[in-house]
Amino acid sequence: MQRPFDKIALIGSGLTGPLLAISLSQRGVDVEIYERRPDIRRVRASAGRSINLAISTRGIHALREVGLWDSMRSIVVPMRGRMMHSVAGDLTFQPYGKDENEVINSISRADLNVALMEAAEAHGVAIRFSERCVGFDLQTGAVRLRNEETGRETIVKPHITIGADGSASAIRTEMLKLQRFNFAQQYLDYGYKELTIAAAPGGGHRLEPHALHIWPRGSFMLIALPNVDGTFACILFLPFEGSSSFASLDSGTKVLDFFRTHFPDAVPLMPHLQENYFGNPTGSMVTIRCSPWHVNGKALLLGDAAHAIVPFFGQGMNCAFEDCTCFLELLDRHGGVWSDLFREFEHTRRANTDSIADLALENFVEMRDRVADPQFLFQKKVELALQARYPRLFVPKYSMVTFLRIPYSVAHTRGKIQDRLLTALCNSVSRIEDLDWQKAETLIHRNLTPLEDL
Ligand SMILES: Cc1cc2nc3c(=O)[nH]c(=O)nc-3n(C[C@H](O)[C@H](O)[C@H](O)COP(=O)(O)OP(=O)(O)OC[C@H]3O[C@@H](n4cnc5c(N)ncnc54)[C@H](O)[C@@H]3O)c2cc1C
Repeated sequence: MQRPFDKIALIGSGLTGPLLAISLSQRGVDVEIYERRPDIRRVRASAGRSINLAISTRGIHALREVGLWDSMRSIVVPMRGRMMHSVAGDLTFQPYGKDENEVINSISRADLNVALMEAAEAHGVAIRFSERCVGFDLQTGAVRLRNEETGRETIVKPHITIGADGSASAIRTEMLKLQRFNFAQQYLDYGYKELTIAAAPGGGHRLEPHALHIWPRGSFMLIALPNVDGTFACILFLPFEGSSSFASLDSGTKVLDFFRTHFPDAVPLMPHLQENYFGNPTGSMVTIRCSPWHVNGKALLLGDAAHAIVPFFGQGMNCAFEDCTCFLELLDRHGGVWSDLFREFEHTRRANTDSIADLALENFVEMRDRVADPQFLFQKKVELALQARYPRLFVPKYSMVTFLRIPYSVAHTRGKIQDRLLTALCNSVSRIEDLDWQKAETLIHRNLTPLEDL
């Protein structure tokens, strides 16, 4: 087991930092968090609304492990499926899972962040706000911090530093100086912008609350996730450049015209559309891959710092929380020296985080282009029918990623095999009744082994 007097500095009090801090302090480890932002509980009024996240089985499991999930149920809205909005305003509902237990949950990032920080503090973790990490000594492990309010610089010397400081990680930036450090970042040509659908008078929801709403339009899309207060947090995904892009929508009139043309049923629900559009920043989306994730037994990267992914599978945070589950399992099982633990952690996780990065990129195309395609919708029905008939053999890719805790790499590999089977089965049919079940039986038994984790 680690020496209990080892002191850990966690950089970043976003989503993963406080969660890991809770688990470590439950194991008697002395943890301190350094966060560059001010405390959002103090400055929240001016911090604006935050983008919602979908939390599912992997993230929920990690929250359960620290005893937090039950208390969070009051701040999540379960979403049972995708609600597609056509330009004409027609709605099509497509369930995410096989029954009402297979849902994903919409939660405000700020609410989740606050709940995690409060729980961390209740466990005795000190969070130092407005302390930006501006340097890390790869040899000695000393961390250089700059206070964002006073400008004062300090140096702390923990035994271990964990970089949970997100996709622009300062610890990773230092690691770039290592010999043979591998690093790749891939930006999408798309950006995103947060918008809001207002609550109904009296506080109800103006759209079906138990769904993730999608307005898929080929080269761009709008999505909306429900909040407990009746509002929806929307995200507009749009190319940065081109004819329909953030660059081209440069006036209130153009924004309104664009929405009236492409998302007409959303316009009456968004009374502050232009204000939101110009008041909120345009975010970028990046996939980050790097290795190693650790240095000299002194520092480890996890969460987005090690493997940021694009948001289209709703798994970035879930995956980062699963990092915590994996890290703690290794810590509990082996203890031992940090350098061995870090090495084994990366060895266990990297194939999985690479897989979810690929799956997230693939799902971008699916959400944007394919969810409105009748053949795609038919294939989704076939998937559920196959799952009902072969529950241990055929589990839809989305379900393996979202509702199971099997390794992402297994979900990725099986997903590709299943995609090929689906194409073979659905090629010349468009009704479940016409499916060749004999062919399905043969293909499934020939290509898939039973899943263990069911
Ligand atoms: C539009 C969008 C939608 C998403 N939707 C989903 C979803 O539905 N489901 C899902 O699972 N995931 C989703 N994600 C991904 C999810 O937000 C991230 O994977 C998750 O926040 C990663 O957690 P983290 O703790 O690693 O990093 P973060 O949550 O980014 O936290 C990093 C923290 O480190 C701090 N920090 C950074 N640099 C420094 C420094 N130098 N010194 C000190 N502190 C520092 C930051 O201020 C921040 O508080 C989405 C992402 C985006 C962009």
